[in-house]
Amino acid sequence: MPESNAAAKRRTFKANRAAGLGDESGRLTRVKEPPKMSKCTVCQLELKITKTNTELTAHATSKHGSTLDACFPGASAVAAELAAGGKKGGGSAGGPTKKQQKAKNADDLDDLLSAGLSAGAGKKRGKK
Ligand SMILES: [Zn+2]
Repeated sequence: MPESNAAAKRRTFKANRAAGLGDESGRLTRVKEPPKMSKCTVCQLELKITKTNTELTAHATSKHGSTLDACFPGASAVAAELAAGGKKGGGSAGGPTKKQQKAKNADDLDDLLSAGLSAGAGKKRGKK
């Protein structure tokens, strides 16, 4: 009989407790990083930095008639960081691009075609 979810959880909590993680019951309460905050230089109000900084920009423009950078210096840089880190595994780094993948598939197709042609034409099987 398969282990129930509850039992699996208890086991995880127990392991966490043994490893000194989580709270007293071993529950991991803090898995996410605390939100990055930025303090308005004008009124000292703290706001959470997001990828788009909508709230901060709105605050700066509507409250102080100023810009995001003036009220929250560095916030846009953090936002850019968040935006970059948000899409892990994506982006251009690592792995072939879709275009490269397509080109590779075309190559494979060519190989198959030429292999099939040469095989059908006679004894020439080796390529390259
Ligand atoms: Zn302010």
